[in-house]
Amino acid sequence: MRINENYLNVKESYLFSEIARKVNDYAEKNPDKKIIRMGIGDVTLPLPPVVIDALHKAVDDMAAKETFHGYGPEQGYDFLREKIVAYYKENTIRIDINEVFISDGAKSDVGNITDLFDKDNVVLVPDPVYPVYVDTNIMNGRKIEYMQAKASNGFCPLPEPGVKADIIYLCSPNNPTGAVYTSEQLKAWVDYALKNDAIILFDAAYEAFIGDEKLPRSIYEIDGAKRCAIEFCSLSKTAGFTGTRCGYTIVPKDLKVEVTKLKKLLKVDSNVVELNKLWLRRQTTKFNGVSYIIQRGAEAVFTPEGRAQIKENIDYYKQNAKIIAETLDEVGIKYFGGENSPYIWLECPGSMRSWEFFDYLLESINVVGTPGAGFGANGEGYFRLTAFSDKDSTIEAMERFKKLFTPVPEPEIPEEPEADETAEPADEAPEAELVIEEPEASETPEAEE
Ligand code: PLP
Repeated sequence: MRINENYLNVKESYLFSEIARKVNDYAEKNPDKKIIRMGIGDVTLPLPPVVIDALHKAVDDMAAKETFHGYGPEQGYDFLREKIVAYYKENTIRIDINEVFISDGAKSDVGNITDLFDKDNVVLVPDPVYPVYVDTNIMNGRKIEYMQAKASNGFCPLPEPGVKADIIYLCSPNNPTGAVYTSEQLKAWVDYALKNDAIILFDAAYEAFIGDEKLPRSIYEIDGAKRCAIEFCSLSKTAGFTGTRCGYTIVPKDLKVEVTKLKKLLKVDSNVVELNKLWLRRQTTKFNGVSYIIQRGAEAVFTPEGRAQIKENIDYYKQNAKIIAETLDEVGIKYFGGENSPYIWLECPGSMRSWEFFDYLLESINVVGTPGAGFGANGEGYFRLTAFSDKDSTIEAMERFKKLFTPVPEPEIPEEPEADETAEPADEAPEAELVIEEPEASETPEAEE
């Protein structure tokens, strides 16, 4: 027996465990300090009432013989898939119900989709990156190329001449940078994919955070995308399903891939294969669907009341993002994202490195964020804050930011005495510098989880 040794090539993920270790250590040594967590991307608001009602009702359905549901269709119940078709239609995108696959979240499908692709494909991922794209491909032994997401390209890298990739991961709005691709930029990727027989895996987990109508919420807003892109969506952040688990994936029927001659010999009828059929085959073999109860809850998200209720939640998080952005503007810290995204990606002030800034924030104002370096080499010197905390904590954290980063006003220079030409010139007034204030112990109740 041999294991899949590719697993040995997957780097240990130290990011969140290291954050947890440092925070726990600090909390243990400083039990009187109130730590505010703005690091992990989990939501804090509960499921909307309309979802809770639907879940209760679905539980009751399971109690009666007539309405009990056992195994369901692996690709999801039509009642939910129809709602998703209608959701796309509002955005003038036509999706066939058989192109919709209900999942237990975007993470599973983003990872599992790699089952469909040969090991010898070149995979292109942005740096910094949501680590799942990298690790799942390493597990399959695929070669990974990085595209440079930097401040200079607004963290939205475009196809570069000479780069040859077969599988391209795009995430917009982006985790961790909060950047959002424009339609023109996505068109450049769709054109590239069509020209190079590549496939785009488009992670739209945060699409509902896009408020600017000019920005695309789906890659299928771009002509030709149905021939080259799979889209992954999630109800986790948009409707509070992080614990309940539900998402959906669109695999268009127009997405066809030519098979090699060798496979033709292996009795594949035509030399063109629909990825939709392959994914259906994969799901019906390896996945047994999302539970009836959860799909009823998800269905409620797409009703008019559901849409209104999730909008309220999204607006709440976006308000938090605004509070963070305004504070950073006020104290002169440069940042990206936060407008059409729940993530704020800031440049560590004073040229600090990501982990150095993490320690500095934790120790000086007891605020926890995520060091950008944990998302890739280009994340070094950056730091991610999320808008998913509750509003009061966000306000308090930002008050602490203001205290910590407000420059000391320049000291008033007393009237010059009569000029004495023989005297040395006076020293220049010192540059404004950062004040580092320890929060007062009396203000800090129990550490919150
Ligand atoms: N894609 C991105 C970019 C994410 O940030 C996340 C979660 O943080 C996911 C996918 C996973 O979402 P889900 O909870 O639906 O599995």
